[in-house]
Amino acid sequence: MLEISGVAKAFGGFQALVGVSLRVEPGEIAAIIGPNGAGKSTLFNVITGHLVPDAGRINFKGRDITGRPPHAICRLGLARSFQRTNIFPRLSVFENVQVATLSHEGRAQEMWSRARDLGRERTMAILEDVGLAGRAAEASGSLSYGDQKQLELGIALALEPEMLLLDEPTAGMSPQETRSSMALVARIARDRRLTLLFTEHDMGVVFSVAQRIRVLHQGRIIAEGAPDEVRRNDEVKRVYLGKH
Ligand code: ADP
Ligand code: MG
Repeated sequence: MLEISGVAKAFGGFQALVGVSLRVEPGEIAAIIGPNGAGKSTLFNVITGHLVPDAGRINFKGRDITGRPPHAICRLGLARSFQRTNIFPRLSVFENVQVATLSHEGRAQEMWSRARDLGRERTMAILEDVGLAGRAAEASGSLSYGDQKQLELGIALALEPEMLLLDEPTAGMSPQETRSSMALVARIARDRRLTLLFTEHDMGVVFSVAQRIRVLHQGRIIAEGAPDEVRRNDEVKRVYLGKH
């Protein structure tokens, strides 16, 4: 689904990514972990076209997407969640997902004319999935922080992606919200056969949800494998897990 080879990115003289290579198979639930400043967000930004790498190649579904603009990459089926920025706080929960659904179908204009019920079934199905069906009529701005994150996930799902990138989707959540939110994400990914790549700071959640884990440290992948292999890796323990 996704193949990255030799990706490098520097900011001024600082090398944030140093020859990163990885493959994510279709349907895989994969995590990238690593200390703050390891380069996780930079890697995500390079994958989604928000940053152009200095070197290396990124292939999505066998197509070279290196340096393509974000909207083009999104249209190919690779979506990411943003932090709040794409929620319209004064629209209802329903309308936020409806707008995303209709705009994905190229029908956003119709929404403003008459039909309040356009795309109702698809929109409600998504809200069911993310646990917000009962709050469809509420103003999005009045949702709790955790529910706004669920709404963002719903907006991303409205784009019918094949692969979803989530960069610290649980930032700011309590440990309990984090666990239930990631369990929900993993269930949705399995139900929809989505490929998922995420970062997360709660190691309990990472080791229980991810099928494969990569450890990024100072812009390099220093370990990769199934949760048990990564947990046992001595270098990982030394540079990362040992600190927790
Ligand atoms: P992580 O997400 O793993 O915490 P980041 O990818 O955000 O790490 O950052 C990796 C390193 O690159 C950090 O040292 C950060 O300060 C630096 N960095 C990230 N973005 C920029 C930028 N736009 N300009 C300069 N330095 C940056
Ligand atoms: Mg980050």
